[in-house]
Amino acid sequence: MYDAVVIGAGVAGCAVARELSRYKGSFLVVERALDVCEGTSKANSAIIHAGFDAEPGTMKARMNVKGNKMMDKLSEEMDIPFKRIGALVVCLSEDGLPRLRELYDRGIENGVGGLSLLSGDEARVLEPNLTDEVCGALLAETSGIVCPFELTLGLGESAAKNGVEFRFDTKVAGLKREGGCWTAATDKGDLLARTVVNAAGVYAGELHNMACESKLRITPRKGEYCLLDRTAGGHVSHTVFQLPGKLGKGVLVSPTVHGNLLVGPTAADVEDPETAATTAEGLREVAEKSAWAVKNVPMRQVITSFMGLRAHEDGDDFILGESAEGFFDAAGIESPGLTSAPAIGEYLARLIAEKLGLPVNDSFDPIRKGVPKVADMPTEERAELIRRDPRYGSIICRCEEVSEGEILDAVHGVLGAKTLDGVKRRTRAGMGRCQAGFCSPRVMEILSRELSLDLTDIRKSGKDSQIVLGRTRKEGE
Ligand SMILES: Cc1cc2nc3c(=O)[nH]c(=O)nc-3n(C[C@H](O)[C@H](O)[C@H](O)COP(=O)(O)OP(=O)(O)OC[C@H]3O[C@@H](n4cnc5c(N)ncnc54)[C@H](O)[C@@H]3O)c2cc1C
Repeated sequence: MYDAVVIGAGVAGCAVARELSRYKGSFLVVERALDVCEGTSKANSAIIHAGFDAEPGTMKARMNVKGNKMMDKLSEEMDIPFKRIGALVVCLSEDGLPRLRELYDRGIENGVGGLSLLSGDEARVLEPNLTDEVCGALLAETSGIVCPFELTLGLGESAAKNGVEFRFDTKVAGLKREGGCWTAATDKGDLLARTVVNAAGVYAGELHNMACESKLRITPRKGEYCLLDRTAGGHVSHTVFQLPGKLGKGVLVSPTVHGNLLVGPTAADVEDPETAATTAEGLREVAEKSAWAVKNVPMRQVITSFMGLRAHEDGDDFILGESAEGFFDAAGIESPGLTSAPAIGEYLARLIAEKLGLPVNDSFDPIRKGVPKVADMPTEERAELIRRDPRYGSIICRCEEVSEGEILDAVHGVLGAKTLDGVKRRTRAGMGRCQAGFCSPRVMEILSRELSLDLTDIRKSGKDSQIVLGRTRKEGE
């Protein structure tokens, strides 16, 4: 019997798990995919929002502002990249200026520091590539950017390091309250728990409705993006948002922590929570709308496109707390869910610890080390690492300069990578300009060797993403 079973290893589930491990108890994260960060947490804008957007008094506002403030310490403890680059919300027509002022006032009410209103010219001094149509802007200095994979992985690994168990490839299909505890039926057998945390992303409505009398409806809201090469990364230095206006909802243009440029997203409700495809019209919309605010976005430098699904709840707020006896929701976690995750984790873990009377875990260790990034190291440090282990000198991914040593660290880490995407998200092998064209066969060989798997058993991400289907010749033929 577990004290808590967390359903879903996205950023919310991993944050709850890490915070639970500050208490003594038995905790399990159960995830239907093969790895952490396979849901919405892998595909978003990666912005640590300042907190001026959400309605004052809502869970979204509270968690956003708190999560933002937690990010400096957390990123240091977990060895993950985070940059407070600041954001500009730009206004493209004079009649939008009162709305900009509203956002400023709302931010002040939510407790956001570092806000100021700028004229179009003042904004262009900060961002010379803003268009001439920009007639005013809200500057939010506390806004930042993060790597969503590393944030999720860091939280998950930190939880695992502090004793939380993880089970992948296990889908919760039913929930029943019996004899004062919960039984979670999975495709790998039943799990017994004193409490359950529902952090199932776009499926959180389904799980909530299995457990609670009050019903929730989550609508998957698709957002498409273009990711541009590092050569385009300096086109803006802040995250540039557009104030929704007469022309509709604009798209953002932002640097990423790894020096690329991100442009998007669109917003369209979809039926299918499994959809993963981008569309020609979505990507065209991204290109068109980005040009309203930022001049000459070098769209010829697009290296990939992707999409993510927001888990939009009808009430438009995060559903957080005990929704049925011993059943805790982290549902409706759409944007700013990435920003809010650390605060959501703290909030729910405290509620569970109080309910169960869990004592504090004095041996909780907040420090987690990520895979060393050879490409970012000063030459001397890099040389020393290679002297100690020459495999850090053997470059597997040319675009991102990822070595064999880093891939081995990723495979044999606390929650080791088992797939090509697992390696990619931990090391950046395959994230570069050639998008894994050169390195995937070599990464597959390493995975096959290290995990004692046949090449035909290596997956891109999910179980159905086989890459090599069979051999055309046997050895020696
Ligand atoms: C287009 C877009 C842009 C965004 N931009 C930002 C941003 O800039 N800043 C920000 O703060 N937030 C942003 N967000 C929001 C943020 O990405 C999400 O709020 C956050 O990632 C949600 O995390 P999660 O853990 O709730 O869900 P997920 O990451 O989806 O995790 C849920 C997990 O549950 C698993 N699961 C589901 N059902 C079951 C089951 N039955 N059994 C076992 N496992 C199950 C899934 O496989 C999945 O891994 C954006 C979202 C989108 C879509």
